[in-house]
Amino acid sequence: MASRTEAIVQYSLDALLEDETFLPNLTGDARKQAFTSLASILSTPNHIHKAFLRVALENKKVVRIPAFRVQHNNTLGPYKGGIRFHESVNEDEVTNLAALMTLKNALHEVPFGGGKGGVIINPRDFSEKDLHKIAVKYVHYFSDALGTDKDIPAPDMGTGEREMDWMMAEYKSIKPGEPYRGSFTGKSVVNGGSLGRREATGKGVYFTFRYLIHDFVNQQHQLLTNTDNRFAKTALETANRPLKMAVQGFGNVGSVAALEAYQCTHLQNKVVAVSDRNVTLYNSEGLNIPGLIDFTRQNQGDLPATEEQLEKSGVKASILGREEVLYLEVDALILAALEDQIREDNVHQIKAPVIVEGANAPVTSAADKVLSDQGVIIVPDILANAGGVIVSYLEWLQGRETQFYTEEQVFKMLHDKMQHTLDAILPQFFNDPFPLRENCYIHAVMKLSTIVYRHGKFY
Ligand code: GLU
Repeated sequence: MASRTEAIVQYSLDALLEDETFLPNLTGDARKQAFTSLASILSTPNHIHKAFLRVALENKKVVRIPAFRVQHNNTLGPYKGGIRFHESVNEDEVTNLAALMTLKNALHEVPFGGGKGGVIINPRDFSEKDLHKIAVKYVHYFSDALGTDKDIPAPDMGTGEREMDWMMAEYKSIKPGEPYRGSFTGKSVVNGGSLGRREATGKGVYFTFRYLIHDFVNQQHQLLTNTDNRFAKTALETANRPLKMAVQGFGNVGSVAALEAYQCTHLQNKVVAVSDRNVTLYNSEGLNIPGLIDFTRQNQGDLPATEEQLEKSGVKASILGREEVLYLEVDALILAALEDQIREDNVHQIKAPVIVEGANAPVTSAADKVLSDQGVIIVPDILANAGGVIVSYLEWLQGRETQFYTEEQVFKMLHDKMQHTLDAILPQFFNDPFPLRENCYIHAVMKLSTIVYRHGKFY
């Protein structure tokens, strides 16, 4: 069992056990027993599917590629979550990520459970034809576990519209007659994908940050000034002035979040640094984000990494080491790269008072504790990066209805949903001594537990 999930679930249930207003009909020994059952239901995955995909590559070599689909929990609806193509994914990581999907969906009231897939490859090492074979084989091996009302994959690191289009086509041919439009989300728009799905995670990340630091702080100024909560102090100190932001990762999430910040001109926030797997680019006056996005489009996703490339891009910046992005003097740091970026060994170099998790699990639990004790606001992954799965849900609905929404409608629904969650969480967060992550976990576990209880699954 993956220990990170176990710790989250146990922590949340311990808090809820003490709260007599939660499931008040359960008392005494029955309450204790019920909470023990809940802990095992929520901290262990329902299924772990594993396979070695046998693929004959273009160069005639036959390889066996390890692949997973973990189905963590389907209390709230079909399993849902991305498929990651990455050389360092492993079963434990996929299991933890599947559990995070369960919590993310519960937190935002998306009627899905949690799942995640992984294929251990570096997609950059394979031709397009070979990637197609690998994607198709994945569906081939796991098709019985997948389906519109069973388990719905989506893009994740190393996968995107292209892979989802391939996979849905394969699913359709393997399972003739079964509903297929909602079997995968994150497809291309011509193939039944939703407008706005590609930008959804990045937009949601910036929206969450903006709402918390600007809108909410302004609306609830009195609430925040009347408490001695350390996070309220951080929020008040950060709000209502032009902010300097740094963004780690310039892929689908980081580049969109950076562009949102750049375009949100009325707040005068500046993105002073962005980074990717090669470099950090820095300009204290603010970077030209559209210029950088144009450059990455023509350079296989990479930022300019040399003076020559910078000159070609026309963007003014200095080149720093790729990790430097984490340690700059900025007001907000958006983490949109890999997991475990801020750890016990580098946490003391972090200067940003607000950190937003665009990636899944980029701050380790130990580092989170150190920063939270200092009053740093960490907006956790399950709160901040849910835009992707929220618009996946809209895509799934549109596929069922074969009715499609405009981009404007999609973004309005996305923002409304995220705001609804933020309004439910933030007042309590600014009144409690606990970090935002803990508030979110408790909220999600409370929702899941209530439904498990209603289903009579304690017995
Ligand atoms: N991979 C994304 C995530 O981690 C999106 C999942 C989905 O759309 O199902 O939230």
